[in-house]
Amino acid sequence: MTQQNSVPASAASETAGLLARLGVPASVLTGGSLVARSPITGEETARLKEVSPAEAKAAIDKAHEAFLAWRKVPAPRRGELVRLLGEELRAHKAELGRLVTLEAGKVTSEGLGEVQEMIDICDYAVGLSRQLFGLTIATERSEHRMMETWHPLGVVGVISAFNFPVAVWSWNAALAFVCGDSVVWKPSEKTPLTAIAVQALFEKAAAKFGPEAPAGLSTLLIGGREIGEALVDHPKVPLVSATGSTAMGRQVGPKLAQRFARAVLELGGNNAAIITPSADLDLTLRGVAFAAMGTAGQRCTTLRRLFVHESVYDAFLPRLKAAYGSVTVGDPRAEGVLVGPLIDQGAYLAMQKALVDARDAGGVITGGERVSADAADGAFYVRPALVEMGRQADVVLRETFAPILYVMKYSTFEEAVALQNDAPQGLSSSVFTNDMREAERFISGEGSDCGIANVNIGPSGAEIGGAFGGEKETGGGREAGSDSWKAYMRRATNTLNYGKTLPLAQGVKFDV
Ligand code: NAD
Repeated sequence: MTQQNSVPASAASETAGLLARLGVPASVLTGGSLVARSPITGEETARLKEVSPAEAKAAIDKAHEAFLAWRKVPAPRRGELVRLLGEELRAHKAELGRLVTLEAGKVTSEGLGEVQEMIDICDYAVGLSRQLFGLTIATERSEHRMMETWHPLGVVGVISAFNFPVAVWSWNAALAFVCGDSVVWKPSEKTPLTAIAVQALFEKAAAKFGPEAPAGLSTLLIGGREIGEALVDHPKVPLVSATGSTAMGRQVGPKLAQRFARAVLELGGNNAAIITPSADLDLTLRGVAFAAMGTAGQRCTTLRRLFVHESVYDAFLPRLKAAYGSVTVGDPRAEGVLVGPLIDQGAYLAMQKALVDARDAGGVITGGERVSADAADGAFYVRPALVEMGRQADVVLRETFAPILYVMKYSTFEEAVALQNDAPQGLSSSVFTNDMREAERFISGEGSDCGIANVNIGPSGAEIGGAFGGEKETGGGREAGSDSWKAYMRRATNTLNYGKTLPLAQGVKFDV
């Protein structure tokens, strides 16, 4: 394994320069109480003003006013605003991608990839703005028509996690805007700067769009959990899309249910892959290595559990260990680095705790130690860890948001699928096989119980065209493609009588 070999350049000065190029005034970056840091060096990058709960409430009220105006703008015209947003993102992809790298610690290609995902969902939403259609349904009454219509919903609250600091907002916001909703965003307190930059780009797009885009259409609330709570509790927010840990979802979900608001919950995952006897091991190795070590194990879809058939275990494991040993860990801005830093000390301590628990449960660990050669004390780089486990102990069944891959042997395909489905989370899964029966069974109703089930690709790296989300403790939410847009709209069923009589349904008679 190569470690970073030089003291990283100042992340703070680079951040300030990028924000200026993205249209964020320097005055925003000082004088507040929320300290922003780069995980690359641990340096402080800004001190931001946090909104108070009262200010948050007033901003949400204003977003509701914006919704009342925006819903009158025809949907294809609303799509034009999203098209302009996509153009701003294209024009500033390099700067915003770099800022994602600086603030979330993603390697360069992943920082840029996150912005590309935003561009892709904008394109998708522009097309969608001309396809918000309902059904016409056969009615039992003559001279009647029955149909469904879809209407704007209201203020959409978005709460996002640190690890996809900007893409998650766009999966929700691009759809919400074309659906006629306004959006209020509470980003992670660990990644506020990328959110501020995106808001600046949105404002540029809105200025080009003109006065039809009302003030308050897109609102950013900088703050911690209590500001997220203000969004969750506000009666004028009919939908909150919340991405983060299952612990967060356990608090947010019941509160929304209490006031009958909609929840799109995108929570923790504990994703698995099964390697069968017929798997193409070259392809499998690449798929497993990226899914388990990419983004330093800080993707919701990161591969965390690997079930390897006993007949290929001894052939596959040494190759996987070699890949773990050769991966370059270090400053994510540097060429050739594949694994950047953990987000903070809390993530590092959680990883070490999980490794202790795994060892106590009989696990045999390779890697996992801190790579601290030249990093400042406040930066946390680790070698990804591979843990050979005899069984699926408690530690394996909980999500540790760090690069730990638990590897286990299995004998029969049915056993492997059962082990995979044994986790309380249900986000993503994959099988590596060339056996058509295994592939089909895995994606059938008796196979993987996850929201994402793949064949011969790893569990991470979803595209925006499909609906994204997972079952069980992952929360059940779906966002991005397919028919996810329906969550952002209100459905009405309409019956129209164009005759001169009033027949009642089900043959009911009521003549007065
Ligand atoms: P987190 O739960 O600590 O925080 C996420 C967001 O929720 C933050 O903005 C935070 O301020 C807010 N929040 C926390 N408690 C809240 C409350 N009671 N009310 C309102 N808001 C509250 O998560 P994190 O550490 O930023 O992100 C990592 C987690 O997110 C992992 O569990 C990962 O699997 C999950 N994640 C899931 C998906 C998905 O699509 N399923 C995507 C990305 C991340």
